[in-house]
Amino acid sequence: MIIAFIPARGGSKSIPLKNIKHLNGKPLIYWSIVALQNVACVNEIIVATDSEEIAKTAVSFNFSKVRMYRRKAENATDTATTESVMLEYIEQSNLQNDDIFMLVQATSPLTQTKHFEKALELYNKNKYDSLLSCVRNYRFFWNENGTSKNYDYRNRHRRQDFDGQLMENGAFYINTVEGIKKSQNRLCGKIGIYEMPEYTATELDEPSDWVIVEQLFKFVNNQPSILRRYGKEIDMRSLKGNIEKIRNLIVKYIDFCKENLKQIDDYIGFDCRICHSKEINKKFVNIRGYQYNLCENCGSIILLNIPNVKNLYDSTSEKTKASEVYLDYDIIPKRVETIALPKVKFIFDSICRTSEKLLWCDIGCGPGEILMALKNTDYVDYFEGIGIEISSAEIKFGRKNGLNIFEGFLNVDELNDEIIKIISASDVISMFNVLEHIEQPDKIVDFYRKYMKTGAYLVIEVPRYPSLASFVNLVSPDLTYRHIIPPVHLQVFSEKSVDILFQDDFNLLATWGFGQGYTDILTNSMLLSNIEEKTLYENLMDISNKVQEIIDENGFSDQMIFVMRKK
Ligand SMILES: [Zn+2]
Repeated sequence: MIIAFIPARGGSKSIPLKNIKHLNGKPLIYWSIVALQNVACVNEIIVATDSEEIAKTAVSFNFSKVRMYRRKAENATDTATTESVMLEYIEQSNLQNDDIFMLVQATSPLTQTKHFEKALELYNKNKYDSLLSCVRNYRFFWNENGTSKNYDYRNRHRRQDFDGQLMENGAFYINTVEGIKKSQNRLCGKIGIYEMPEYTATELDEPSDWVIVEQLFKFVNNQPSILRRYGKEIDMRSLKGNIEKIRNLIVKYIDFCKENLKQIDDYIGFDCRICHSKEINKKFVNIRGYQYNLCENCGSIILLNIPNVKNLYDSTSEKTKASEVYLDYDIIPKRVETIALPKVKFIFDSICRTSEKLLWCDIGCGPGEILMALKNTDYVDYFEGIGIEISSAEIKFGRKNGLNIFEGFLNVDELNDEIIKIISASDVISMFNVLEHIEQPDKIVDFYRKYMKTGAYLVIEVPRYPSLASFVNLVSPDLTYRHIIPPVHLQVFSEKSVDILFQDDFNLLATWGFGQGYTDILTNSMLLSNIEEKTLYENLMDISNKVQEIIDENGFSDQMIFVMRKK
């Protein structure tokens, strides 16, 4: 077990509440936590604090590895040592002697995931008792009595001929629990050194350091570390026991498919709609006459015989709207709370905030769940929401609720000036579950390349392959009502295909993988078996969030949100 330990005192002398003072748009402590969250072998991140405000901020990031430890008052004074709080924590914890304890200081926010990873590797490989991070310093030091410490002034070296000296940068220290207990010190025994880049030399102690590190951040963050999140809290009580409802939904859906079925027998020679490879002859699944194949180049799943997409979403033909099957206006407030708000929160956490309100355009906004979430008190000061939607019923509903919805369809072949204007003015553009419905996803991306402003954020949510949900679709295609849904889902995206689509012009900032593959397995088993007894099913549903998070972390989530920034 490896734990990272971040001491975060509330009463810092030089800068009050320094640990949550914003740096580069985020509370300072965020940068250490996000870098550690992404270190696969770190099991827990302990934030030890005496401050309610710091605790609340650290918890609000919603990182799965973070645990709070409330410090004893006597260990949180100005004179208390970091060691005293480390020992206090160790004493009350269940840590084993050979567990690795990594002390991390939030005052070094430029430490990245790769630095922690490499240092831990070095520590294990060389069997050090403890390790500290250093930077190489090429300065010449003098004693007060006029003698030089580290060079001969009569023989001044050129910098390239001088090895410099290693300087402790205070970023982190690695030891074992046993080593700390025995030595009462963060370091002991055979000490290893992990050398970090020169720009990590500054620790945030004085207000002037803040200015320097903010600038350095811009320099380093050309390659930002990607925030990765997995799993989702879904209230299973609201979903379970609905076997009959799902059965009815499927019957309704089969009727819908029959009406819209447009069989194309001769589909050989099609290209992948994402990467344009011709290697899409590998069959994946046939659902009610709709053939889905695997693209062997980009790894996405492609529907071969596509229906007339325009007719499918035509605003005048109410009957053909796929969303009608799902849309139940009574449950919208619940959907805002459980689906839209967590997404808005995730995006809010992934992007840099500014003092100006950001214009957020949600494309294919439906009845406006995301726009409603943006009006939540936590976000109303940060965002101004606007939606674009084609369905008249949904627009009507949204407008009745005071939302700003523009009627339109993002058709790259018939560009609408009004839409171009909105896109070029937006700071955040989101498309939740839109790209899988679009015949030419690459054309849409080209449109964003051309019209989005530099530095604006693009958020997409798409169904993902490989996933447990795609497996469920594969083994029980007749029960498909989610994930691979013919004829409306034209493609299911691999991460590689998203890479190919957005390469060069967008920086990836964050991903969030989640899904319902596990509940799909349980529900489909119930549907197939026709049994009345539901207790065991419901009990298994109760653990679905935990099980699904493990599935998601291992790369089998069935949905993924990507947050990108236009270069
Ligand atoms: Zn492809």
